[in-house]
Amino acid sequence: MKNLFFLLLAAAAFFANCGPATVESETSRWNSNKERIGKLGALYPNFKTVLQSVLSEAETKMKAAEAISKQEDKIKAMGEANTAASPNFIYTLEGISGKIKSLKDAVVSVQQKATDKSDANAAWVAAMSAEGTIRNSEAKLLAAQPTNASEATAVVDAIEDELDASKKRLDDVAKVAAGKAEDNKKSAEEAKKAEEEAKKATADVVCAYCKKSWPAGTKECGGCGAPIK
Ligand SMILES: [Zn+2]
Repeated sequence: MKNLFFLLLAAAAFFANCGPATVESETSRWNSNKERIGKLGALYPNFKTVLQSVLSEAETKMKAAEAISKQEDKIKAMGEANTAASPNFIYTLEGISGKIKSLKDAVVSVQQKATDKSDANAAWVAAMSAEGTIRNSEAKLLAAQPTNASEATAVVDAIEDELDASKKRLDDVAKVAAGKAEDNKKSAEEAKKAEEEAKKATADVVCAYCKKSWPAGTKECGGCGAPIK
């Protein structure tokens, strides 16, 4: 029931965001685009130049859009200004810190999951490589001096690809280790079951009629002569 509620809530939010564009919706998009650019510029000062040039180009478009009197054309032009203010590299740049964090988490968790020796070795190798990737990515992010959007795109795409590849290596090792853990759990369960069956096989049998106990394997009750099943 609770899930259904959240599903409806998510659907409502989805349709609210995807309704027809209005001056208000484009204005709120514009504000979040500007905010995003400001945040990224503070986080990555070496990207400030390219972020500024994206913003000022988009700002020119937005000013022109705001001067249009016909509502429909105005909204369309505002949308174009917003698109100009949100090139793909901005989203990639924005996502990199999250990818680095999830890679760091995966480095820790894969080593916890890898319990047998070969998995532990594979986990260690993948973790070392991931740590190298993280260091390289952070260094590249700090050293990059992109002067235009296509240079910025090349830098962040290369970093994203390396982070993704490194995460995939860790995930593969974790998957193998998780499979083995599952197998181990299964064989432990099977061993326990077999032990219980063995115990049952050697336990005394009880006559259903006179309730006297006899050694396992007894076919006929020594007290009352009833067959023992
Ligand atoms: Zn009996």
